[in-house]
Amino acid sequence: MRVEFGRRAGLVGPLVVAGLLLAACNDGSDASSDTSADTAAASVAATSAPDTTASAAEDGTAPDNTTSDASPDGTDANLDPSVDPAGSEADNELEVITPLVANVLAEPRPVLSDDEQIHLAYELFATNAAEATMTVDLVEVLGPDGVAIGELTGDELQGAVQYIANQEAIGPAQQFRVFMDQTFPAGAEVPESISHRFTVTLTPEDGDVSSTTVVSGATTVDTREAILVGAPLRGTKWVVSGGCCFPADYHRTATLPVNGQFYAPERYAIDFVQLNDQDTLYDGPVDALESFAYYGADILSVADGTVVRIQEGLEEQTPGSFEPGATAASAGGNFVVVDIGDGHFAFYAHMQPGSLTVEEGDEVTKGEVLGLLGNTGNSDGPHLHFHVMDGPGPLSSNGLPYRFESFEVSGTLTNTADIPTGVVAELDETLTGSFTDVMPLDNQLLTFPD
Ligand SMILES: [Zn+2]
Repeated sequence: MRVEFGRRAGLVGPLVVAGLLLAACNDGSDASSDTSADTAAASVAATSAPDTTASAAEDGTAPDNTTSDASPDGTDANLDPSVDPAGSEADNELEVITPLVANVLAEPRPVLSDDEQIHLAYELFATNAAEATMTVDLVEVLGPDGVAIGELTGDELQGAVQYIANQEAIGPAQQFRVFMDQTFPAGAEVPESISHRFTVTLTPEDGDVSSTTVVSGATTVDTREAILVGAPLRGTKWVVSGGCCFPADYHRTATLPVNGQFYAPERYAIDFVQLNDQDTLYDGPVDALESFAYYGADILSVADGTVVRIQEGLEEQTPGSFEPGATAASAGGNFVVVDIGDGHFAFYAHMQPGSLTVEEGDEVTKGEVLGLLGNTGNSDGPHLHFHVMDGPGPLSSNGLPYRFESFEVSGTLTNTADIPTGVVAELDETLTGSFTDVMPLDNQLLTFPD
């Protein structure tokens, strides 16, 4: 894991955060593509409650949460010995030991995007509570009535799972994270609460492999519309790098342990870089800031508000690589945080040294220049890292979705990962056109109003 305000360049070193060396991880590449159980078979097995229960009790693995009172260590939990664990509907009211516990990091909030889908992006933190190795085969999103409204399985699931211990299966007491992007058609009603049904395979050291299901990870959903904001930049060919939503990339997977709590500040963050007339990122030596034509672009306040935090005094980094030794304090470089109301804070990072035009306490108006685009902090090339969050701390907050009032899309980059090498950008002309009041998606090429 690393603090991530860097651009998607693939040139990522480890990062020291508050004295703790956090190994670089996960742009999705260390998620496993290996599933140990056939999903369909696992799903069927999970519905065969009595069999699953019997094998779980004998195996020393944890049982189906609806059908057994055996404990994860194989001993009889004896929670209610008077109740027959097999079958009856009243079992739903039992207190049962489950092999998995999941929580949603923060209440999710939906946002309408330019693909005419409502995206509900959030993070599931799940712990293997069994004394058996676990693989996750299926994650279903359940509506308030318990009916599945979405599912992740196969390669999609493996692309969304982050194995913290960097392995294919989850050992006892180990955590894994699932980066969800539940979508609904534009206009659909988003449920006010959701939960999740996990289908997992348990492999004890001694004993039979079993499959089971667990319902966990219940959360309410903040169904209010995402905030509407103006553009943070002017002009054409701005690339949405590290944007939402699926597969989860370096912004979304930057779930950070800060002040004793996990946060996902960059859930909806965008790193804006701009293509030049040749449709390349830079023209000239990669390590010269002047090679990037957009270096020094005006950064605009996206809304009226009050400046609540700034950082100044950090020098420019040399483009082309991340400098070692970035810390939590320096990751954002020179930055501005503006309270834009209703619990929303806009964050603008990596600004040029000496370019900030505002101080803490200043009132700003939408469109006002806050400073200039730079390359300070944890950055390997000039860019604006922009996000909206639910508190003033760039790390100790959770990301909130936002919609831009107006932009045009001229296509989606198909070689984003390569453009830091100086190659010409290639475009897939899907979802082109003018858009209002929606969120752009990852790798889209935007024009903002002048
Ligand atoms: Zn960033």
